Amino acid sequence: MSNRTISMTGKLYDYLLQVSLREPPILKRLREETAKLPQHGMQISPEQGQFMRLLVRMLGAHRCIEVGVFTGYSSLSVALGLPDDGHITACDVSEEYTAVARRYWHEAGMDKRITLQLAPALETLDAMLKRGEQGRYDFAFIDADKGNYLNYYERIIRLLRPGGVVAVDNVLWDGAVLDKKDKSKDTVAIRKFNEALHADQRIELSMLPIGDGLTLARKRS
Ligand code: CA
Repeated sequence: MSNRTISMTGKLYDYLLQVSLREPPILKRLREETAKLPQHGMQISPEQGQFMRLLVRMLGAHRCIEVGVFTGYSSLSVALGLPDDGHITACDVSEEYTAVARRYWHEAGMDKRITLQLAPALETLDAMLKRGEQGRYDFAFIDADKGNYLNYYERIIRLLRPGGVVAVDNVLWDGAVLDKKDKSKDTVAIRKFNEALHADQRIELSMLPIGDGLTLARKRS
């Protein structure tokens, strides 16, 4: 019973939420507003947000990066776990979705902790490297276009301090990673990404079956 991960039924998932979820009311409202959008599947689950908040607390993180903001649930979840001088550089290209994010960051009093960079994330990350910010970040979250996952990761590994952690979303891709006939661009990119991290000796890693699969990679000290 304990030598593999438990299969999550709907009822067991409800129980997990019932006895562990402590979702701040503002995050609940953001989640409910986002659920009405056509792209609502891009939002992380509430227990994943809570897990990432716990993670930044455990890391004692101050400086964070987010690649892929959408309507801001993950950035707000993380920001609420940071100390007063904590900061997130949040990268996205959608003005429309990040307008929702900004509204909630402001309402939560977290807009001072989050700087939105409305540009292709590779440009923002390259500019940070150019400014000499290597090794200065504690935590990063990648949840954007899958075809660029490895490109984001390579930059973020350089921006993280030794011991810093990057979390990467959708690594199980709704199970499509298993389907050998699925040669779609995103599925192929995620398989390639997972295999690259498995072999990457610069990090220690763990793939967690939370949400759609979340890989944690810690840059070796
Ligand atoms: Ca995602």
